[in-house]
Amino acid sequence: MDPTASPFVQGLAAGVLRHQRCTACGTALTGQRFACTGCGSARLAWCDAAGTGTVYAVSTVHRAPTEAWRALAPYTLVLVDLDEGPRLMAHGAAGLAINQRVRAIAVTLAGTALLRFVPA
Ligand SMILES: [Zn+2]
Repeated sequence: MDPTASPFVQGLAAGVLRHQRCTACGTALTGQRFACTGCGSARLAWCDAAGTGTVYAVSTVHRAPTEAWRALAPYTLVLVDLDEGPRLMAHGAAGLAINQRVRAIAVTLAGTALLRFVPA
């Protein structure tokens, strides 16, 4: 599967945060799934999110996984509960705190669009 063909990645490149929602039970999902984690249905639809949410957890990465990231370290990763319900991991602005309101932006690193949360 070509990861750039993902509706999530394509949305991010266009400045839209997308997630999946089960059309059978309404469960909101993150990632790109083939079946609902709530009921097992394969009837999933992509939805545009408002891009706003609340920080659930924050961590700082000091050891970059690749050379491209080394110049950015230390950098922040966050778990964010979107207002639509699902929780996802993304990059975050330095200094974000648990329970802080945030909004999503797209940043580009080495030609790849990445999700990043900044203060709302
Ligand atoms: Zn479901």
